[in-house]
Amino acid sequence: MSATTSSDFGALEHEWGARNYHPLPVVVASGQGAWVTDVEGKRYLDFLSAYSALNFGHRHPGIVAAAHKQLDTLSLTSRATMNDQLGPFLRDLCALCDMDLALPMNTGAEAVETSLKTARKWGYDIKGVPDGQAKIVVCENNFHGRTTTIISFSGDPSARDGFGPFTPGFITVPFGDATALEALFVSDPTIVGFLVEPVQGEAGVIVPPTGYLRRVRELCTQHGVLMIADEIQSGFGRTGATFACDHEGVRPDIYCLGKALGGGIMPVSAVVSHAEVLGVLTPGTHGSTFGGNPLACAIGREVLRIMATGELQERSRALGKHMLARLRDAGLPAIEEARGIGLWAGVQLFAEAGPARGYCEQMVGRGVIVKDTHATTLRLAPPLVIEAADLDLALDTVLDVLSQAKMV
Ligand code: PLP
Repeated sequence: MSATTSSDFGALEHEWGARNYHPLPVVVASGQGAWVTDVEGKRYLDFLSAYSALNFGHRHPGIVAAAHKQLDTLSLTSRATMNDQLGPFLRDLCALCDMDLALPMNTGAEAVETSLKTARKWGYDIKGVPDGQAKIVVCENNFHGRTTTIISFSGDPSARDGFGPFTPGFITVPFGDATALEALFVSDPTIVGFLVEPVQGEAGVIVPPTGYLRRVRELCTQHGVLMIADEIQSGFGRTGATFACDHEGVRPDIYCLGKALGGGIMPVSAVVSHAEVLGVLTPGTHGSTFGGNPLACAIGREVLRIMATGELQERSRALGKHMLARLRDAGLPAIEEARGIGLWAGVQLFAEAGPARGYCEQMVGRGVIVKDTHATTLRLAPPLVIEAADLDLALDTVLDVLSQAKMV
């Protein structure tokens, strides 16, 4: 018997899929803009945007057209040959980032891995750190993906426990604390990089104190340490600027990019940096069969064209201000703090309000897809193309559900 209902499809996923996710109770069958429709035809506003991979909404017409055009021409080459989409894509990506070189990969975790390898190699070749001793500083409560090396410096027990032995060479500092970072830099000349999310996404949309990123930039320059900004979730307009670093006029040494770079169609990631930094990689030192494929590049080029207009950054800024004001002005007893930047908010609930997950399930039941992050935080990240009226519609639901919280 073939599956037709949400519960049929849910049962199939549960029976045949590894249990490494706990999905919300909705089976999505189609999407357009900020809306998705489930297999029964019920519509939902998407307030998660695939963790910001859907900044441009579902099936953005320009991006879909670029993908179709490329699919009808050439989809995959591998890097054994060159292709006519890669060069223009890299040029446009470097222009957006004001950088010299870019290295295309697929997933976000691969971009982060690429940046770590690059920083280590730069440390040995350029900074002169003795072989095998390079260290990279990371932040508490970071999230950079789930590969073996990346989870080696995760503070999240569910990401780490049972997966050792871990990759050495990482030091953790509190996020937002430039003084602690300076002390580390002063004490250890083998530090080659500082990996930071300019706004911590998975931690609950944590915006660092004003001036932090500027100070990080100064310290990295002063101590010959590469500033590696993981803008995989914060980039491409999410915070109301092209990159979250832009809010402080900061350009890192390495950008890790992903998610929205794939236009909501396929995984496209990249590391973008100075010639001196990415120039340390030579043939054979790094690569990926799918990285830089023509389909990915054609999609990425369209994304870059959209970004270059600045319209979505402006939209994210204006609508985000409205969203945050509504969350804060609601004055609901369940909400301890509403924080955010651009069209990206973390709603921290009081512990007495109970787990965030239950509220998300209620919101999904009422047609708004909202995801919890950690036990007591809701993360709101609608597509940047969302209509103002739809944003308000979803916020009405979010606030109504939270207004009925029972504090225990
Ligand atoms: N870096 C950040 C800041 C992220 O938020 C994520 C994913 O959520 C990643 C890296 C990993 O990206 P991916 O899931 O595409 O490997």
